[in-house]
Amino acid sequence: MKSGLLVVVSGPAGVGKGTVVSRARKKNKNIVYSVSATSRKPRPGEKDGTNYYFVSRERFKEMIRKQELVEWVEYCGNFYGTPRAYVEEQLKKGRIVLLEIEVKGASNIKKQYPECVSIFIAPPDLDELKKRITNRGTEPPDVIEERMRRAEKEMEHISEYDYVVINDTVDNSSNRLLEILEIELEAANKRMCESQ
Ligand code: 5GP
Repeated sequence: MKSGLLVVVSGPAGVGKGTVVSRARKKNKNIVYSVSATSRKPRPGEKDGTNYYFVSRERFKEMIRKQELVEWVEYCGNFYGTPRAYVEEQLKKGRIVLLEIEVKGASNIKKQYPECVSIFIAPPDLDELKKRITNRGTEPPDVIEERMRRAEKEMEHISEYDYVVINDTVDNSSNRLLEILEIELEAANKRMCESQ
């Protein structure tokens, strides 16, 4: 039997986590991505079931009540949460399951799954981050300011993570992410063998 690996990836919004994660997934087909549920409205180009499951606030609250989520948070006025069923099913299949979630959710996951691996993707510096969020052009100025404040707060949690990857280029960071995943999956399999 093969061990699965639960991996939490965090980093300030706009740091490029999504791009790094999808590049890594293209190179390692054993990596699956857990699509979160959110009450946020889709941005242009975002697809339901691919980027998020876009649900109403009412449906989200029902998911909380029915314990359909492993963790959830309210972030900048919207709900975000990780659907439980998919994570459990994929871990049983021996997959590397990536959760791309913010710092509070990451700490909740660590409590429930102490063997999970946590990785923080950081910008080279905060000015660079503001440039990236502004260039994305999808958020109005007040939302950009709120996200920048939140980003600074999130950076304070960097030391709680097992690994930090500085996103200088997508190639470098996705390769570094893949290296970490290989090392950690091997270690998880070793632990599993030893315990049998
Ligand atoms: P965005 O609105 O930019 O897509 O996401 C805002 C923040 O919510 C990001 O930091 C993203 O990683 C985080 N996020 C996305 N899905 C989840 C989730 O299921 N749980 C938690 N805790 N955070 C999430």
